[in-house]
Amino acid sequence: SSPAGPPSTAHSEALFARARMVTPGGVNSPVRAFKSVGGVPRFIASAHGAYLTDADGTRYIDYIGSWGPMILGHDHPAVRQAIGNALAGGTSFGAPSAREVELAELVTRLTGTDKVRFTSSGTEATMSALRLARGFTGRKFIVKFRGNYHGHADGLLVEAGSGLMTNADGPLGAAAPSSAGVPQEYAGLTLVTEYNDPAALDALMAARGHEIAAVIFEPVVGNAGVLIPTPDFLAALHRVKASGALLIADEVMTGFRLSLNGATGLLGLTPDLSCWGKIIGGGLPVGAYGGRAEIMEFVSPQGPVYQAGTLSGNPLAMAAGLATLSTLEADPDIYARLDTYTARLAAGLKDAAQAAGVSISVNHIGSMLTAFHLEAPHGSVGTYTQAAGSDTAGFAAWFQGLLARGIYWAPSQFESIFVSAAHTDTELAATLDAAHAAYAAGWAS
Ligand code: PMP
Repeated sequence: SSPAGPPSTAHSEALFARARMVTPGGVNSPVRAFKSVGGVPRFIASAHGAYLTDADGTRYIDYIGSWGPMILGHDHPAVRQAIGNALAGGTSFGAPSAREVELAELVTRLTGTDKVRFTSSGTEATMSALRLARGFTGRKFIVKFRGNYHGHADGLLVEAGSGLMTNADGPLGAAAPSSAGVPQEYAGLTLVTEYNDPAALDALMAARGHEIAAVIFEPVVGNAGVLIPTPDFLAALHRVKASGALLIADEVMTGFRLSLNGATGLLGLTPDLSCWGKIIGGGLPVGAYGGRAEIMEFVSPQGPVYQAGTLSGNPLAMAAGLATLSTLEADPDIYARLDTYTARLAAGLKDAAQAAGVSISVNHIGSMLTAFHLEAPHGSVGTYTQAAGSDTAGFAAWFQGLLARGIYWAPSQFESIFVSAAHTDTELAATLDAAHAAYAAGWAS
């Protein structure tokens, strides 16, 4: 069913105009600007459960979930109450407090790591884990995979995914580095190879393994759109350890989302170090890195690798993380329910596209999903290079069709969407109705 008329976006437009005067591109993180899909970014006034309400009062079913953290849905009562309790005791101490110990105990227990250090973002977690790997091994080079995104630290902005894949000034597949301001000398310490290509990884490790401090990877990729590792690739990742390089799983997106022990728990991978963010802070700014004691003991003040943060271990953020992880742990069926919703969404999207004669290939795992607008040769998209062949104009048209019908999808072809525990049959049915209508109406134009 098509909407009576597009809802007004006057308030968002006015806010965006003001924002552009005082903030680069009008946003504080690039993908929010809708650059690759066009149209006015919606300024959000409030969020509850599975819904966002924008500045013009229009309600949307939310598939971004703040890009991952809101696995329980927005404004979850347990999380709100935990933040409120913490708030009553002061907002920042710059001294250790009990909630940091409790969250560290919970995270190490759920993930099987020995020790963990909290930061305030995923970027800080990956950046610090790499410094630690270099400090621990005494080696200089790191390996990352094309189209994986690990935050915006200099050495990681090399053939990076997420917003870098749709940055108009840095075309798809751009040669390293993928951002201005990253010196070639620095980018040169980052070696890049293809995800899901075990032979390429083996060859790189055979040639350079003795110089490599760490191989960092997304255990399930979200930032080139969803890419799922093949068993052969997982085996090649395990072989990395033989060279003495550390295996760093970047679970910022997948941690506590694909299982209580993340993607690595689901896939049976045992990394040396892991990085977390997003869900670990329950919607407040938290990141973390952790691993075996012998490695983590290199971190200051115990060891020689420096890393610090004024707001690290912030009491409100720790409270939100504790409430979120405890709620996940207390609900044994939650991951199965998320998986069922997402699988039904995937099947429904394929039907909707097919009914309109549109080719899509849907990758999904747990509560992560990407509908690539292309015809995949073997049914699913496995690599960054394949993903990059998507029809981004077609995706943009479909995205606008969804948005006009009250569905807030990720505003880029190269992102995962995130289903939350607040999404029910009602939201699924409304989403699939909108998807059918958007393909039927918007595609050929
Ligand atoms: N690693 C991965 C896998 C991510 O998806 C992200 C953010 N999307 C980051 C690191 C960076 O986290 P943050 O944005 O909190 O710095």
